[in-house]
Amino acid sequence: MTKRDFIKMAGMLGIGLPLQTTLVSCRKETITPVDPNSESVLIIGAGAAGLTAGYHLAQQGINFQILEASSTYGGRMKRTNTFADFPIPLGAEWLHVSESVFSEIVNDNSVQVNQEMIPYSPQDSYGMFQNGVLEIDTLGSYSDLKFKNSTWFDFYDQYIVPTVLPNIKFNTVVSSINYEGSSIEIQTTDGQNFSGDKLVLTVPLKILQDSDIDFTPALPTGKMNAINDVVMWPGIKVFIEFSEKFYPTFFRLGNTSNNGNLEYYDASYGQNTTRHILGLFTVGDPSERYISRTGEDLKNYILNELNEVFSSDVSQYYIQHIEQNWVNEPFIRGAYLRDNENWNRVQTLSDPVDDKIFFAGEAYTQGNDWGSVHDAARSAKSTVEALVG
Ligand SMILES: Cc1cc2nc3c(=O)[nH]c(=O)nc-3n(C[C@H](O)[C@H](O)[C@H](O)COP(=O)(O)OP(=O)(O)OC[C@H]3O[C@@H](n4cnc5c(N)ncnc54)[C@H](O)[C@@H]3O)c2cc1C
Repeated sequence: MTKRDFIKMAGMLGIGLPLQTTLVSCRKETITPVDPNSESVLIIGAGAAGLTAGYHLAQQGINFQILEASSTYGGRMKRTNTFADFPIPLGAEWLHVSESVFSEIVNDNSVQVNQEMIPYSPQDSYGMFQNGVLEIDTLGSYSDLKFKNSTWFDFYDQYIVPTVLPNIKFNTVVSSINYEGSSIEIQTTDGQNFSGDKLVLTVPLKILQDSDIDFTPALPTGKMNAINDVVMWPGIKVFIEFSEKFYPTFFRLGNTSNNGNLEYYDASYGQNTTRHILGLFTVGDPSERYISRTGEDLKNYILNELNEVFSSDVSQYYIQHIEQNWVNEPFIRGAYLRDNENWNRVQTLSDPVDDKIFFAGEAYTQGNDWGSVHDAARSAKSTVEALVG
């Protein structure tokens, strides 16, 4: 059962929403609003959550600065324009909720959001390789939407980044956070200091699990337990260009693992292109056998696997490939919070500390959903709403 199936079922059983409502009201009670005239907010991380938080603070006229460890923004929305004649999403690819989330993020009625999305057709082909045989069926009902000649990154690049870019400081790796006094003092690995009245922390979970950031005082025990007990799945994406299209729209190898996911899919689906690009997306347990490989080794491993699935030498059609191993990204180190995570722990992850440190991002949601760009964005938006009071 996937997280989305689980959440749907929990919703039907009525155990999801009451928990969320309780938590939201608790958070509001303990938060002192930011004074736009005299106070400022520091944001750590310029992925979907950090960018959304900055953008919404800007809309409220609140001073903020985003500190980003890498040399660019976007985090796990990374994409490349150089592999094909359409943008290739190396991280987030699909929209898992209604398109209205774009306007929810932009939050400005005067802005017309033009983001073309493509639904899959129930008649599209879906393959399952089991016991040495690839059985092809129709896809049936499938709600995820694909971006047309665009990506999540491009949406942010067009609608959100122009507002926040002047406030992002790149190549700035936060190493310590001191929240003992009335303000928050931050230090970076290269000895820079920053100070603010509130902090929105959006770094990937692994960064906290690996203790890259020292906290003074230490984070509360309950918070630390939640951070250390949850699991951020490993993950990798590979895109392979072929001279022939020999594959269905989607295909899987064996049944879906409860502790991860593996999907091959037509990455050119709905794009303005004649090029045949097959995507491999895998997270959690099934990703381990790909993550341990790279370059020619990874390519040969995948081509052998495909030769077996299609019972012919499809490797003769190989042109080129590109890989994105998220475990090896120095400031990310994994894919996202596992789908089958415990709800209570996820709620604890998002709890603010001392009315000073606030958490936003795919893993720091209020437990109703997690793992996706829209979750990161919504958690950031609700954090800003709480900060504004
Ligand atoms: C393979 C893969 C496929 C996915 N597919 C989808 C999909 O189809 N649809 C979907 O909606 N979502 C998908 N996701 C999930 C989605 O990409 C994430 O949920 C979302 O982008 C996370 O945003 P974030 O802001 O929480 O974190 P991030 O994007 O990770 O941003 C955190 C930022 O913090 C920075 N940082 C880290 N440490 C420090 C430090 N010490 N100091 C300063 N900065 C620091 C990082 O450099 C990074 O930029 C996928 C993810 C992966 C990996």
